[in-house]
Amino acid sequence: MDYEIFRQKVMNDILAERDRQDKKWGIQSHEYPIWLMILTEEVGEVAQAMQKEWGWGKKSDASNLYQELIHVAAVAVSIAEQVLVEGD
Ligand SMILES: [Mg+2]
Repeated sequence: MDYEIFRQKVMNDILAERDRQDKKWGIQSHEYPIWLMILTEEVGEVAQAMQKEWGWGKKSDASNLYQELIHVAAVAVSIAEQVLVEGD
């Protein structure tokens, strides 16, 4: 199996999600505690999607594990971008 194809798809999907976030919210800059809340909320949606596979949770919970993982990665990328912009 050529895992590089899967890695490239994941990276492309993360980049597409970053573009979607910028279109939706504009370029974001937050204090790190705010970023941590945003990232943790997305991690919570990963947990919801994993719970769905076990029959747990509520109907309104996130259910697409792959998409929620992409959200987590894209938020982490956005935070990392800010770290670089601020010259950390
Ligand atoms: Mg999400």
